[in-house]
Amino acid sequence: MSLFETINWMWPAIGLAFLLGVVATRWFFKKLGFKPRQKVNSEYFKGLNFLLNEETDKAIEVFIKALEVDSETVELHLALGGLFRRKGQVDRATRIHQNLVARPTLTDEQRMQAVYELAQDYYKAGWLDRAENLFKELMGSDAYRSSAINGLCQIYQQEKEWQQAIDVLRRHKRSERGEYAKQIAHYYCELAEVSINVGDSEQARKFLSQARSEDQTIARVNLLRGDLNFNEGNFSKAIHCWQSLIANHPQLAQLVVAKMIACYREKGDERGLKRYLIGVSALPKDDAAFDLWRNSLVELLGQEQAIAHIFSQVQQQGLSGPAASFLSDAVSEDQLGVEFRATLLSNLLARAKERKIEYTCVGCGFDTRAMYWFCPNCGEWESFR
Ligand SMILES: [Zn+2]
Repeated sequence: MSLFETINWMWPAIGLAFLLGVVATRWFFKKLGFKPRQKVNSEYFKGLNFLLNEETDKAIEVFIKALEVDSETVELHLALGGLFRRKGQVDRATRIHQNLVARPTLTDEQRMQAVYELAQDYYKAGWLDRAENLFKELMGSDAYRSSAINGLCQIYQQEKEWQQAIDVLRRHKRSERGEYAKQIAHYYCELAEVSINVGDSEQARKFLSQARSEDQTIARVNLLRGDLNFNEGNFSKAIHCWQSLIANHPQLAQLVVAKMIACYREKGDERGLKRYLIGVSALPKDDAAFDLWRNSLVELLGQEQAIAHIFSQVQQQGLSGPAASFLSDAVSEDQLGVEFRATLLSNLLARAKERKIEYTCVGCGFDTRAMYWFCPNCGEWESFR
């Protein structure tokens, strides 16, 4: 058993042992008091035995039977259930929470908490309709309403039921709604994309206006308005939309490079294309768009000038995957002059000296400069490479 597996097994086991300890202690006190309960005692040892044999499932069954659910032990049940879910043992968490919910002795507050836990178990297990029903039930509870809304929203988002996701988010208290404006705006953009894909431009425009009225700053609206205009053959308008995207969100400029080139080509506007290609403020990060940009540049400026231009852009913007692969080809094909090579090398070394990332967690991609045995982000052991 690896260290990770041992730890993974141990946490719920420790929790369980603790709970069984509680059963034993209560039995002991009851024995000193009025009602001796031989049954609980034997159940406790049976459970402990299963636990020692690593038969956690049987131990849980025994424990659930042995331990009465009352106001004192509800918290312990909840803690153990939550622990199992976090460790990915959703079926065990579900059994504990179902057992809790079925108890008539719980207070309203305790029952709601157990229902909320169970809803999360169902969600994690992929039983979305069961989770949905429980979250809907929780909408009636003041304490859980906000969490239930977010739970339902997560489900609708996963099911791509964008309109339902919007409707449920709108049920947040008015004072909290601002927090969700960007999210709602993105759901409207998703709806607009669906409409664009089926060719319903009118509906797409409505959704985009709604997105914009939720969040004035959302970049995706201009991106999609450009797509709409492009599909309708309004190339100048499309260019206008994307230019405004580039002006307000320069970091997203690389998303529209291929679209802009296609637009200028459709318009037959060579001068505009040239001006755009040279002025591109963010190099495309995906291979296809980079190749398109580079090829168009070579076509317009010739190989030598294009390489010089790309080189100077890389100097300003830093290397991306496609740009690095382009430069590496240029080096191996001997198309990069001695001066360029020297500059490239010294820049690369300078950047490497200032590296901020030395280790990356293989579990979650968490980057760090220091080595950890335990990932502070996802909790995996020995996951840094
Ligand atoms: Zn991690």
